[in-house]
Amino acid sequence: MPDPGTTSCADCGGSGYVVEQVLGHTARARRCTCQSACPRCGGSGYTLVPSAGSMVAQVCSCRHLDERIGLFNQIGIPAAIAKASFDGFKSWSQDHQRAKTAAEDFARKFRKDAPTKGYLLYGRPGAGKTHLLAATLRYLALEKGVSGRYVEFMLLLSDIRSGFDAKHSHMETLRPLLSVPVLAIDELGKERGTEWERSMLDELISRRFNSGLATLFATNYFLEARAPAEEPGRVVRTRSPDFQREAEAMTLAQRVGDRIYSRLNEMCSFVKLDPGHDLRKDRHGSGSGGFWG
Ligand SMILES: [Zn+2]
Ligand SMILES: [Zn+2]
Repeated sequence: MPDPGTTSCADCGGSGYVVEQVLGHTARARRCTCQSACPRCGGSGYTLVPSAGSMVAQVCSCRHLDERIGLFNQIGIPAAIAKASFDGFKSWSQDHQRAKTAAEDFARKFRKDAPTKGYLLYGRPGAGKTHLLAATLRYLALEKGVSGRYVEFMLLLSDIRSGFDAKHSHMETLRPLLSVPVLAIDELGKERGTEWERSMLDELISRRFNSGLATLFATNYFLEARAPAEEPGRVVRTRSPDFQREAEAMTLAQRVGDRIYSRLNEMCSFVKLDPGHDLRKDRHGSGSGGFWG
């Protein structure tokens, strides 16, 4: 809740909250010190307003700030991108501008009482897809008081599997994700693609779709087939480099199956967000530009 008296605060820029990055933990927001003694209510949480000739107590807007900070802290934004926001997203290509516009439009237009079509960002790693997912959830929580959750699909699957060891059904892990107003699923298609994995994804997104809830996605897979990219220095775990390259050249439909792909089409607008060139090569100075596609 911006307060007219605090717009010059150097810590929060007047927003009233500060997001902190603590390694090993998901992103956390806290009330800015400029808000510790609310200038309107003095910390009581209520203000007196005139109504029909007398004064009545009204909940102070600073109360919303605490509620919204609480919502933000439940999202589960990874520490590495704790501070991701729309303002901090660098739009240095047409892809970036279009993707940011799509994400911001979704966040600004979102209403809890009407179904809103989600978005799916696709493109190679390093373009900022996760940043936009996190920025969207942050905006919804802190600016609109809308609850959201962020999950990486592979990690969600491993949470479901560990639940089995404790004799929990998959529903115990999925249930909180079936009712949250906005769910962001990152790294879609990175899983192995077994029948069981697909059935978990299908159940999660179909139930949300049927309930009219919005789901956002990010995936490193393209909609059309493309030639395998040369990516020297790429860390590959559990799979041979050849297998990995082939897998990366697969389409999203091949990775998730036609049934889920057509469901994604119904639920989302597809938006390409690709680095255009390989960011990791640029960063590590090991390669010759690598423009591709
Ligand atoms: Zn402040
Ligand atoms: Zn107050």
